[in-house]
Amino acid sequence: MQHFIYTAQPIRVCFGNGILHNIAAEADALGMKKIFILSTPGQRHLAEKVVHLLAERANGIYDQAKMHVPIEIVEDALNITTQSSADGYVAIGGGSTIGLAKALASKTQLPFIAIPSTYSGSEMTMVYGITSQGLKTTNKDPHVLPKTVLYDPELSLNLPYAISASSGLNAIAHAAEGLYAQDINPVSALMAEEGIRAMAAGLRRLQKSTQDLQARNDCLYGAWLCGMVLASAGMALHHKLCHTLGGSFNLPHADTHAVILPHSIAYNASAAPEAMNRISRALGQPQDPAPIALFDLLQELGIAHSLKALELKEENLDQAARLAVANAYWNPRPVEFDSVRQLLDHAFHGKRPTQ
Ligand code: NAD
Repeated sequence: MQHFIYTAQPIRVCFGNGILHNIAAEADALGMKKIFILSTPGQRHLAEKVVHLLAERANGIYDQAKMHVPIEIVEDALNITTQSSADGYVAIGGGSTIGLAKALASKTQLPFIAIPSTYSGSEMTMVYGITSQGLKTTNKDPHVLPKTVLYDPELSLNLPYAISASSGLNAIAHAAEGLYAQDINPVSALMAEEGIRAMAAGLRRLQKSTQDLQARNDCLYGAWLCGMVLASAGMALHHKLCHTLGGSFNLPHADTHAVILPHSIAYNASAAPEAMNRISRALGQPQDPAPIALFDLLQELGIAHSLKALELKEENLDQAARLAVANAYWNPRPVEFDSVRQLLDHAFHGKRPTQ
């Protein structure tokens, strides 16, 4: 007999090529009339497209979203959007832009529509972070969930291959770690397996052509499913290590997930055999151990597969291991300094897992 809890997310999801053109109707459905559009400087052209589609509902663009949501940017955006009496936001871009919308929504409780252009999955979760004086603090608040998410694969056509691939591995990490979560449920497990399958298939095609719209469809569909898993199941050692490495050593978010994943999965393999079978199956390599299938995927996709390549210094590994074991959290296998230090050593040198 199974015991589980599944909480559905109150988010409307619209998916499909060209779905961006529904933005005005979606804003009207939410009663938004004075909308501020958020982006990074690099995605300003997408924000301008949204302004055009929203017509008189658009109130302005704030294009200064930054990785890890610095408090100064949140305050600046809050001032500007409040002065213009905005009654909602549209966030178009990756996890950094969506993170800014979440931070604003936590303070104003205004609704927002998310239009993700990477595969980070942030739009599905009620977790948000703000960085102040070099320290990123995360909180959970149902008000930071977007009311509506528009997934338009056409928008990611210009996402460079390297960012697509590492962002895709970031998504796979949510699903892989979700599969052995303490609070996994059958619905999220289905989403995790399908999410990994769709993402891996999409990334393999993207490698041949970043303009392959079917591949972009598969990746964005996979990103949505993996994001749903992130939202519904507790994460463990893998996510802890990546947040430690990103927060304390300024390593790039998605690339760090990609490098660490085969090693964190290897760490937990013996304690979570059913999750391992599902990961291998989803990657199309049911005969191979999951850590090896993941490592092979990194190599096949040409993604950096060592912390050394991400320019971490070897002398930082001790501190990273200490930070990763500092506070107790659930993981299928006990989290111990020596074993975590060894995991980091393997990740630093990009060693192929042995099982
Ligand atoms: P990002 O938003 O910084 O985007 C990565 C890069 O892709 C940037 O250089 C951006 O300019 C570029 N880019 C985005 N869309 C593009 C497009 N269509 N064409 C060309 N370039 C494009 O990073 P990310 O990896 O999407 O997200 C990482 C951030 O999100 C981190 O701060 C992480 O902590 C956060 N995150 C939060 C959650 C959560 O649940 N709260 C989940 C995942 C990630």
